[in-house]
Amino acid sequence: MAFRGRRPCRPALNILVTAGPTREPIDPVRFISNRSSGKMGYAVARAAAGRGHRVCLVSGPVALEPPGVDLVRVETAADMLKVVLDRIDGCEALVMAAAVADWRPAVAATRKLKKAEMPLTLALARTPDILETIRSRKAGRVFVGFAAETGDPLDEARRKLTAKGLDLIVANDVTQPGAGFEADTNQVTLISSDGTTEPLPMMGKDAVAERIIRWIEEKHGKSKSDRAK
Ligand code: C5P
Repeated sequence: MAFRGRRPCRPALNILVTAGPTREPIDPVRFISNRSSGKMGYAVARAAAGRGHRVCLVSGPVALEPPGVDLVRVETAADMLKVVLDRIDGCEALVMAAAVADWRPAVAATRKLKKAEMPLTLALARTPDILETIRSRKAGRVFVGFAAETGDPLDEARRKLTAKGLDLIVANDVTQPGAGFEADTNQVTLISSDGTTEPLPMMGKDAVAERIIRWIEEKHGKSKSDRAK
């Protein structure tokens, strides 16, 4: 059948998206985690698929409907890192929207600890930083990260943008009404490695996600034409 509408002229990209929290086990029934709902990452996955891209969503434990893209469920930061390492070579862009736990219990018990056995001080170890670990695999890929801070996020977001070698960081103050983890809206500032800072108004997470995907498309197009020169 003949194609009737206008063909989209942008290329379909392979986009890897992470979402949700990670859970770091204390024992089989207890864990350390955080308040991430996964809504922002799932919105990014939906927006990317809606614009014709191929999406792999790596999701920590969340209570959200699967968004109809390739979905890999994980629990811990180490699991998430493993999937990202497996998939990154096949992708042109990575959006790290996951709130990866920064610490894990140094030892995870293999059976439920009895109350009397529970230490009152938990020994912690750092989890792997996924973005820092895969930095050497960036090549021409577009890397986007998030900085969810309490209070003015801009200085810390700029620090993370540089430290993690990102092209774009999406900064927000999670204490603002309507901008927290569980909200359906968000008020973010897009900070790019070329020095541009773009504060966006409060908007639905779907609309924020659409802006991020359009930014990736533009960046990927520019990097491709720069490489062709
Ligand atoms: O937790 P933090 O504010 O440092 O997160 C900034 C960015 O780094 C986010 O995009 C997050 O997904 C990513 N991150 C990561 N590995 C971690 C912690 C955070 O890739 N262990």
